[in-house]
Amino acid sequence: MAQKFVYFFGNGEAEGRADMKNLLGGKGANLAEMSSIGLPVPPGFTITTEVCTEFYKNNQAYPEALAAEVAANLKKIEALMGRTFGDAQNPLLVSVRSGARASMPGMMDTVLNLGLNDTTVQGIIAQSGDERFAYDAYRRFVQMYADVVMGMEKEILDHLLEQKKEQKGVHLDTGLTAADWKDLVAQFKKAIFDELGQAFPEDPQEQLWGAIGAVFGSWMNQRAITYRKLNNIPAEWGTAVNVQSMVFGNMGDDCATGVAFTRDPSTGENYFYGEFLVNAQGEDVVAGIRTPQPINRSKPTTLPTMEELMPECYNQFVEIRETLEKHYKDMQDLEFTIEKGKLFMLQTRNGKRTAPAAIKIAVDMVKEGLIDEKTAVLRVAPSQLDQLLHPSLDPKAPKNVIAKGLPASPGAVSGSVVFTADEAEAEAKIGKKVILVRIETSPEDIHGMHAAQGILTARGGMTSHAAVVARGMGKCCVAGCGDIKVDYASESFTAKNGVVVKKGDVITLDGSKGEVMLGAVPTVPVQLTGDFGLLMELVDKFRTMKVRTNADTPHDAKVAREFGAEGIGLCRTEHMFFDAERIAAVREMILSEELEGRERALAKIMPMQKGDFIGLFREMKGLPVTIRLLDPPLHEFLPQEERDILELSQTMKVTVNAIKHKIDSLHEFNPMLGHRGCRLGITFPEIYNMQVRAIMEAACELVKNEGFSIVPEIMIPLIATTKELQVLKQNAVAICEEVIAAYGVKVEYLIGTMIELPRAALTADDIATEAEFFSFGTNDLTQTTFGLSRDDAGKFLPFYVENGILPEDPFVSLDQTGVGKLVKMACELGRGTRPKIKLGICGEHGGDPESVIFCHKIGLDYVSCSPFRVPIARLAAAHAALGDK
Ligand code: ADP
Ligand code: MG
Ligand code: MG
Repeated sequence: MAQKFVYFFGNGEAEGRADMKNLLGGKGANLAEMSSIGLPVPPGFTITTEVCTEFYKNNQAYPEALAAEVAANLKKIEALMGRTFGDAQNPLLVSVRSGARASMPGMMDTVLNLGLNDTTVQGIIAQSGDERFAYDAYRRFVQMYADVVMGMEKEILDHLLEQKKEQKGVHLDTGLTAADWKDLVAQFKKAIFDELGQAFPEDPQEQLWGAIGAVFGSWMNQRAITYRKLNNIPAEWGTAVNVQSMVFGNMGDDCATGVAFTRDPSTGENYFYGEFLVNAQGEDVVAGIRTPQPINRSKPTTLPTMEELMPECYNQFVEIRETLEKHYKDMQDLEFTIEKGKLFMLQTRNGKRTAPAAIKIAVDMVKEGLIDEKTAVLRVAPSQLDQLLHPSLDPKAPKNVIAKGLPASPGAVSGSVVFTADEAEAEAKIGKKVILVRIETSPEDIHGMHAAQGILTARGGMTSHAAVVARGMGKCCVAGCGDIKVDYASESFTAKNGVVVKKGDVITLDGSKGEVMLGAVPTVPVQLTGDFGLLMELVDKFRTMKVRTNADTPHDAKVAREFGAEGIGLCRTEHMFFDAERIAAVREMILSEELEGRERALAKIMPMQKGDFIGLFREMKGLPVTIRLLDPPLHEFLPQEERDILELSQTMKVTVNAIKHKIDSLHEFNPMLGHRGCRLGITFPEIYNMQVRAIMEAACELVKNEGFSIVPEIMIPLIATTKELQVLKQNAVAICEEVIAAYGVKVEYLIGTMIELPRAALTADDIATEAEFFSFGTNDLTQTTFGLSRDDAGKFLPFYVENGILPEDPFVSLDQTGVGKLVKMACELGRGTRPKIKLGICGEHGGDPESVIFCHKIGLDYVSCSPFRVPIARLAAAHAALGDK
């Protein structure tokens, strides 16, 4: 059979269907579908995307058969409409509309009223009896055609129109007369000739093919190419062209045009929502020339509604709304036009919606029996939830943006500015809300970050310390804000526009947009409504992979449980060391040259650590808790600033020089690859011994006194060889057994390791002889696999991503081809040795939807992520499970 290039629709029939989007584009496929289910759609035809592909394959030539098919289909329209294209008495006018598979701003705009010229305009006048309408349509056509087909600068014609209005002393287009429009058509054509040296085409056939050519041509324009690149749309798809007979919303007060949604796209509420304009055409509604009126009173308004002005059309429209929702089983975004009291549908598609609306619509549609539970779960994108899990700025409030940085961690907060972590802590203690502003942050600032409402840094990228830690804490953060200059000495920062913000001044951060605002902008709180809960119930029905959280404090653990965490996948014990009281003991330990001194200091820390673990176990009652032993290099615990060094020397009664000497001796060229992780445990066994004892005593105490059942998971970081694990495991087991015996209770425990070095992944079969579980530390595994340090990557990584050298930042979304391959391999090797070995990932990838889906595919038991990302991971895991089937 010969290839078919054109598909007809109209009069209750269509050659195409909604599921032919690849061939007909979204607009064409849905016009066909609406027509065949009997909705009033002006007749027309769609030229397929295959023509577009052929066009580019054959040096911009059309397939031979196309011209005849177009002519035949145009005849069909003419027959249905009782008008003839180009006829002097009774001319048919059409629109030419582009329409790719996916909606694509950046493509050609639509041309309306095509087929008009100095002769046919007379026919329109005779037919409509309305000269003003006819010339208004004509001038619109010339304007649009000149702009989108001929490439004329829009401003030149716009300027002529403005001039005309000025001359006539009117403000609105509606103030111009037929004679004015007629004169403008002539002026436009002259300006086009003067500017382009090319006459405006009078021949309707030439106009039609010009417009068709412009749609296909626009597929390769720079805007479209850029848009496709950003949205991963392949160039091979091509666009379709829709040619459709015109209906006129601008023929008088019984005419109108508008857009509507079958449900409210911002709240999801189940009422008909839309706007329209009487006596207007095409995009007047969105162009903001006049204020559109609502179609009904579902929201209060002072304007007359469509329901009141055109009740018959409105009632018919309400029926169409119902038909479309039942048919498409999703919220629809509609375009319509009313010509002389008759309603026409011009477009339908699944409507874009906010996160709360997506959830409400999905849940409601299950209740209404429109969709099943699986479909509801798949209707909400995991990444969309992020919007919901943090407070946001009141969209109605005025705001004074003084700087922009990176949207490093979402949320919206206000507070008075402080410049040091200690101040942040002190102010927070007396109940003040503060924003911590730093040039950049370091581990020393953690207590201040905890105490602050939000964090603003002048330097550092999306994966800088501030950004990573803030996201982990679920704290709002704007990072890398080059628009501000921070001056610690004068305790102030200066924004690019000259505004100076001093300590104590109030600012607001929007971590979702990266904006810094002067003053306090009111926020709207997180609303985990009933619908959110209902959706998450459905999510958990289909999900097979568990979701744990990374939490270092009982508070974080509590938040995470509220979000549905099923355990702790990573507790970083070192974060507990930064607390003001403890850091002194930690420093004392580090500064002690002798084992004895270190043990004395550790004995001070031990009860505090035990208390931490009791708090965590209590909060996570009955759920698994994985605790990682000390990981960072010791120098991170020593002070850097002169003032702090002096203070430490006084409290510890050691000389400043001795401290400086120690700091020097701990200096490393590459701390990430230095004396850290299990290497500390091997060289200073007393540190890990203390931690293991604290964990086991906490567990035994709760089991013995309160009847808990706890299986602590003790995790040893940065293992490269089995021997390391063997030695450390032996030490740990000895202590565990000693504690268990002392308490006289039965407590099981697991000892496992993080897999975060390629060597560990490569020898996972051997490591599994010792390890009872693996947790993939994908942050460090990414650093070590790529051989790049995250802290230094800011200089080139953004460039790599922008220029497509890396498809994505591998710290945001797991590099499945490389790092993922290691993870997959290690899982298989580990299971080979120990079939029931528990497998999970911790690290930020645990909250990234794509990475979660990957983890499901390779069969991990769980992912662990920061508390605020737990619902996102749950939803992603459900999507992965449903995608499997
Ligand atoms: P976009 O994809 O940018 O929305 P459309 O092709 O949908 O472009 O058209 C732009 C505007 O013109 C819309 O308001 C649409 O409803 C209107 N329109 C398109 N074709 C016709 C037609 N045949 N009759 C009346 N209005 C039309
Ligand atoms: Mg548009
Ligand atoms: Mg449209």
